[in-house]
Amino acid sequence: MKGILFALAAVLSFGAHAQQRNFDAVTIKSTKVAEGVYMLEGEGGNIGVSVGDDGVFLIDDQFAPLTQKIVDAVKAITDKPVRFLINTHYHGDHTGGNENLGKAGVVIIAHDNVYKRLAAGGVIKLLKQNNPPAPRAALPIVTFNDTATMHYNGDEVTAHKIPPAHTDGDVFVQFKKANVVHAGDVFAAYRYPFIDVESGGSVKGIIRAMDILLKMLDDNTKVIPGHGPLSTRKDVLEYRKMMTTVGGRVEKLVAAGKTLEQVVAAKPLREFDEEWGKLRKTDAFVELVYYSYAPKKLK
Ligand SMILES: [Zn+2]
Repeated sequence: MKGILFALAAVLSFGAHAQQRNFDAVTIKSTKVAEGVYMLEGEGGNIGVSVGDDGVFLIDDQFAPLTQKIVDAVKAITDKPVRFLINTHYHGDHTGGNENLGKAGVVIIAHDNVYKRLAAGGVIKLLKQNNPPAPRAALPIVTFNDTATMHYNGDEVTAHKIPPAHTDGDVFVQFKKANVVHAGDVFAAYRYPFIDVESGGSVKGIIRAMDILLKMLDDNTKVIPGHGPLSTRKDVLEYRKMMTTVGGRVEKLVAAGKTLEQVVAAKPLREFDEEWGKLRKTDAFVELVYYSYAPKKLK
């Protein structure tokens, strides 16, 4: 493990997003979710952590400059090494630490489409991002097309591929015994989500995915959202309600031939804005919903 930590320190400065943003002030908050399962919040997507006799595996890894802080937060929980990492999807705020962890010998696991999109790189117009192809160390070693199950730390942890929702490579990671699901960015708690229309995402896909997710949940299940606070079934229902409301309204406006400006002016999220407009501003979110129903208009 010492070797891994020294290796991490040496590669920290090479992350793809390291130059644009300053992460010095970010602290990593650690929350116990269930026996052997933790959630880490810093900047970027929420991280799931499995700890136990077998070691540590992570679900998502935020941004490259935060890797050492994330590893330090794990060390505060356990002295076991990080051995595996699952990516819930390919976005940089969930995979930014891949290169550091991969170079340190952590085995990265993800859906086939996560591998493809990381390896190819590409433009996300809706975020004004041009992502270069990921270096070899950042790419998953193990990929799967449907489900992958880890028999680890006394639990069965299954990554379930779902039909395109936030992207075309989304998984829900379900801890059977601990009764925890990491839902990735398909579910954001009381925050308007990003919808990666250019990578297969859509409002309809997200609503369909919420129905899949709800079947995995009982009243005691803890849900780690891609962004936002630790959640339960009730919060997932609130999110589904927000998405079906805005989706239904915008779909009608698009079908009536309204322009993006007209759809934004119609304020299709009026009763949700105060509670949900914390991360992504309303107009930016309405734009995503609009393009979800009118993808051909996206130039
Ligand atoms: Zn995302």
